[in-house]
Amino acid sequence: MFNYINLLSFRRFYKFVFINYFMKEYIERYNDIVNELVKKSFSKLKDKKIKIFEFGFINLYGLFLPFNFIGMNKKCRGFSEEEIRGILAHELCHAEFGAKKGILWLMVFFVFYWFFSKLRIDEEIRNDREVVKKGYAKELFKITKRIEKEYNLDNIKYGLSSKEIKSYARKIKKW
Ligand SMILES: [Zn+2]
Repeated sequence: MFNYINLLSFRRFYKFVFINYFMKEYIERYNDIVNELVKKSFSKLKDKKIKIFEFGFINLYGLFLPFNFIGMNKKCRGFSEEEIRGILAHELCHAEFGAKKGILWLMVFFVFYWFFSKLRIDEEIRNDREVVKKGYAKELFKITKRIEKEYNLDNIKYGLSSKEIKSYARKIKKW
């Protein structure tokens, strides 16, 4: 019995180390891009520690959570540099907006965000526009194109469509 438990926990431990060894490589890649983006375009996040993790259970490419956690779907591992930058710039815009408003506001907003579709739509559109204003229109366009293709969407509900990104970016001379 004792040996059996030992064997189980050893297997679990081995699996944990094995998975994290490979995950580390991707997290490091994301961290490098985040550091570069923050340095260039997100002055409000300069003193914040952005923590990146991977997930594989929701139909989203990126995810922002309070306390500056950014989740990246495991599906993104093979994505191009541009696409990854598009996702991370989008999530960093959420983080910066949260940093401006404060953690209390962010916690309340976070709860409402998941319950009210209209609020989610408005927030994602505002956020995508912010990504464009910061100069990452082409990166956002690339990743949005991928989402539209993968999910067979004519129009993105939560956020700008690829067409809208392009026309908004052209309008404000950020294309
Ligand atoms: Zn978002």
